[in-house]
Amino acid sequence: MSEGKRLALIDGYTHIKLREALVLELAGKGITDNAVLAAIGKIPRHFFLDSAFDKIAYEDRAFPIASGQTISHPFTVAYQTELLKIKPGDRILEIGTGSMYQTAILAELGAEVFTVERQKGLVSKTKQFKKLVPHLSPSVRFFFGDGFNGIPDLSPFDKIIITAAAPKVPEKLWEQLKVKGIMVIPVDETETEQRMLRLTKKKDGMAKTESFDIFSFVPMLKGRNQNK
Ligand code: SAH
Repeated sequence: MSEGKRLALIDGYTHIKLREALVLELAGKGITDNAVLAAIGKIPRHFFLDSAFDKIAYEDRAFPIASGQTISHPFTVAYQTELLKIKPGDRILEIGTGSMYQTAILAELGAEVFTVERQKGLVSKTKQFKKLVPHLSPSVRFFFGDGFNGIPDLSPFDKIIITAAAPKVPEKLWEQLKVKGIMVIPVDETETEQRMLRLTKKKDGMAKTESFDIFSFVPMLKGRNQNK
């Protein structure tokens, strides 16, 4: 591990205080689920960012990560997580591993997480997860793949979260959701903005759809990118 990374793995008093302030900020912005807020208060977000961002890692903003991608705003992570109504033991399929921060939040809430990323450069970093948050490592499995396909062999899932802008609800993912399961997905409304949707699968396989706020995600792209 490089010197920069080792330094970034220190979770000091300042980080803890900044995290507490972030939790208050997110509560002020409308996040009400105490378990979600506690998870945000516990997971060191700066571990999942380049050490250059160490001091600003707890601002409610997105940052660049490798492979031209971004880590979502903490508000977005908290918002999507709250909509999922996670119960301990839920099997969750996450599309768009990115920085692994959202992954860690889901696992911290007691979920078993199956997370798929299409960028090889980001998947190669997932080996660090067990160093960053060792207590969560047994709950998470990482996959290099095209999230449009999901993971049919491990389906069905209790919950599915998509963390990239989807053109519409991917049919194969819908098939991999349990009856009464929940999918949280940002679906394109304009070229640059997405509407957050929560879909609950009814007994007949149809969706109960609830619409939430507008967000701006990086696009969900087809196929895998082998470039490091
Ligand atoms: N939850 C992540 C969000 C990262 S941004 C975080 O907060 O760090 C969205 C991620 O989705 C990117 O890493 C992007 O490469 C990935 N992605 C886009 N299309 C995908 C697809 N079809 N399958 C899997 N991952 C995809």
